Amino acid sequence: MAYLKCEQKITAITLPTPFLVGPVNVYLIEGNEALTLVDTGPKTEEGWNVLTHELKARGYVPSDIEQIIITHHHPDHVGLLDRFVNAKRTGHVKAVPWIEQDAVFLRKSSDFLSSFYKKHGMDEHVILEIHQRSSNYRQFTSKASIDYIVGHGNEIPGLTGWKVLETPGHAQTQIMIMHEEEQKAISGDHLIKHISSNAIIEAPYNEGEERSRSLLQYRESLKMLKNYHLKVSYSGHGLPVVDIPSLVDERIKEQDLRATHIEELLGSETLTAVEITQRLFPKMYEKQPELTFSETLGHIDLLESKGHVKCINAGETIFYKAN
Ligand SMILES: [Zn+2]
Repeated sequence: MAYLKCEQKITAITLPTPFLVGPVNVYLIEGNEALTLVDTGPKTEEGWNVLTHELKARGYVPSDIEQIIITHHHPDHVGLLDRFVNAKRTGHVKAVPWIEQDAVFLRKSSDFLSSFYKKHGMDEHVILEIHQRSSNYRQFTSKASIDYIVGHGNEIPGLTGWKVLETPGHAQTQIMIMHEEEQKAISGDHLIKHISSNAIIEAPYNEGEERSRSLLQYRESLKMLKNYHLKVSYSGHGLPVVDIPSLVDERIKEQDLRATHIEELLGSETLTAVEITQRLFPKMYEKQPELTFSETLGHIDLLESKGHVKCINAGETIFYKAN
């Protein structure tokens, strides 16, 4: 009888989340060296019940999981990390302080963002709300450690044939894993079919660094995907992406259009990034000030990088003006 090679199998398990983004996908990889889960979902009992039920349906219990790949540090992806007692955890070096819940790092990051938002014209009470919300989100994460740090081009221990792509933009910790031979990737929130990923601006990770130009990074990370001949990319939310180059082009085009819209909106006025955000997202700013601000400032960064907009640093406050 011919020897049959055990085929690698990737299964999406969709879990509920309490977040606006809706359900999240985690992926089970069977048939490789280590039984691997990519992301875990948020820490909710509902999510945990669905996940354990789905694992059981495939003949596993949580302690069978040998490895967890962390695509990025957001709560909807990493909340259940501590429930898998036998799993080695693999992720980007920048995910370490988030996953370890390093108090000094978290405080510095939140202090930086407070003064950053203020400089860009945000009201104190809105800043306070943002911080309350983000500390609320922490209930959906768990404190854990990372066993293997991986970076761009690295192979993954226990996952033969797969390697890591660093794709900063949506998060500074964002990685994808790719199986070049099978032309498959699991992309976390880097590329999502039904929604454009927000390139969230983050505080610096090290002393003396500047805040991230997240949208500029995101565009580079998106364009990079076109270098690989991937047939499918499995996303953290929604359906798999099959025509990757077209979706990349679509996202880049949408960003260019939004940037042009901001340039027109600025006209001859001198405005803060928050004022621009309020005009761009009059209703959504109230509900999601941090995300809409990040989205706007990212596009202002894009205009600035093209020389279309200039930044005016007037003492305490930063303004923008079209060139
Ligand atoms: Zn995310």
